[in-house]
Amino acid sequence: MNDNIEASRRRYDLEGFIAALGDVPTTADPKTVAVKSRDFFWFSPILKRQLQGLVADLVVSPRDEADVIRVAGAAARFRAPLTIRGGGTGNYGQCVPVQGGIVLDMSAVNAIEWQRGPLLRVGAGRRIVEIDNETRLQGFELRMHPSTKRMASIGGFAAGGSGGVGSVTYGGLRDLGNIIGARVISIEEKPRAFELKGDAALKVSHAWGTTGVVTAIEMPLAPAFRWIDFVVAFDNFVNAVKFGHEIVLADGVVKKLATALAAPIPTYFVSMDEYFPKGASAVIAMIAEHSVESFLSLARANGGSVTYQTPTDESPGARPLFEYSWNHTTLHAIRVDPDITYIQALYPAFGFMDKVAEISTLFSPDELLQHFEFLRYNGYPGAAGIHMVKFTTAERLNEIMEILRQHGIFIADAHIWVLEDSGGYKSADIDLMTFKREVDPFGICNPGKMRTYAPAR
Ligand SMILES: Cc1cc2nc3c(=O)[nH]c(=O)nc-3n(C[C@H](O)[C@H](O)[C@H](O)COP(=O)(O)OP(=O)(O)OC[C@H]3O[C@@H](n4cnc5c(N)ncnc54)[C@H](O)[C@@H]3O)c2cc1C
Repeated sequence: MNDNIEASRRRYDLEGFIAALGDVPTTADPKTVAVKSRDFFWFSPILKRQLQGLVADLVVSPRDEADVIRVAGAAARFRAPLTIRGGGTGNYGQCVPVQGGIVLDMSAVNAIEWQRGPLLRVGAGRRIVEIDNETRLQGFELRMHPSTKRMASIGGFAAGGSGGVGSVTYGGLRDLGNIIGARVISIEEKPRAFELKGDAALKVSHAWGTTGVVTAIEMPLAPAFRWIDFVVAFDNFVNAVKFGHEIVLADGVVKKLATALAAPIPTYFVSMDEYFPKGASAVIAMIAEHSVESFLSLARANGGSVTYQTPTDESPGARPLFEYSWNHTTLHAIRVDPDITYIQALYPAFGFMDKVAEISTLFSPDELLQHFEFLRYNGYPGAAGIHMVKFTTAERLNEIMEILRQHGIFIADAHIWVLEDSGGYKSADIDLMTFKREVDPFGICNPGKMRTYAPAR
């Protein structure tokens, strides 16, 4: 653990804070507090060293918005640090209470308020898989979800995620229209509610829970098709990537996922190994049932062999292929080899294939393996590289990221826990700072995660 971080623990009157909560459920059970003070920061050996062992004093579990308001008011009065938690699947320690204090577990603030055709308003703590189960009854589903769909909450996805399964068609969460509205409770002695709409709603996106508590969120929905999971094997990674890229470009083919994996990444998928031929690279895809024939034509034209074709099943115990994509790819690899970590790299839309070839010559496959998630980026067909790296030292990891930058690749650093350091999709710009000042004047909302904010009072 980092001693400097531990030293930043804030002092406040915990007993007074608890007394102010009335009947809002709390627990100080050390095991529960320890579990709820963690997320998946251990994907990064650097964060693992820095954040391991940091725990809150108390977990508070509001049942509804009225409870959230009570907690927010008490936190402001007692200047108690408040770290908001959804499903706890973030990768950068966003849920770790680095200054101690309170973990606010939002999982019970989860009511579906209404659904009007392709628009949904739902409590932030609702698990994403439950949302789709509900909205599918009316023929709709969320436009996109993280590969952690079965664990993550919709509020945590909006505040901590960037995109995922569905981004191949709809782009990222940060794209205008992918979050329609958000209701935010400020952390003030007399908390206020803010209804953010349109581009204002994007203020909560990727802010890592530093700008008040999101209690409800309005999300646009897409038609719920019957999805078919595919594995397509290639004896050459360049062909796999070219195929993935063509899937994005094929506007007539209705898809939800296109992932390209360099050999030998698929060998880490131990429970699926019969579908990934030895030595082959692969594309994983989710295709709408009515587009399957067109997809198969595209696969044939690119020289791919279909080794798996099964309707997507996300019921308990099933293994939907999206749980082998995005950061689940890394998870499977770490389970086999704990020295593996990852780099988040966004490749340019233009000259994409050339860039893939160029980067592949820079590193030995023993050190870096390319994994791409195809998506729309600002409307253009692009790919997020979630490259797998065999970790040796922090210096070498930073060096690899620097080499990629020098070759024109945009890096969102996944080995940091302060928002400003990621260089990623969000920076603490003047808009975010102004909003922060409005909703968290004392700087106690996920404190430490936004370095440039100086509390007003
Ligand atoms: C195996 C694996 C795969 C992943 N795949 C993807 C992926 O495909 N796409 C992707 O974008 N990410 C992915 N992630 C990262 C993570 O799953 C997503 O960010 C996820 O959506 C987080 O949801 P959560 O409910 O677990 O959020 P949490 O981890 O609980 O919280 C994330 C952040 O949001 C804040 N927050 C949570 N709830 C609220 C609220 N109500 N109000 C304000 N702030 C709040 C928290 O303080 C925290 O800063 C992956 C992670 C893992 C470990």
